[in-house]
Amino acid sequence: MDINCLEMGTDCNQVVSGTTTEEFVAAVHGHMKLAHGYTEEQLASDELDEIIRGAVWQSARPSEIRTPRPQI
Ligand SMILES: [Zn+2]
Repeated sequence: MDINCLEMGTDCNQVVSGTTTEEFVAAVHGHMKLAHGYTEEQLASDELDEIIRGAVWQSARPSEIRTPRPQI
């Protein structure tokens, strides 16, 4: 999955990628540390965890929800 940092409530336009949720979380943590100066304490916070999981959930939603196919 590829998620733009913007979708996590920042004003940063960096895309973060990961194959699994675990990989993605690790990639976000690395990016937050390097680009946003997050401390280990901030990275371990429930608040950031919820933001990341929310972004993963948004990206995992099937697109058919937005454009339903007509019934035949
Ligand atoms: Zn960022």
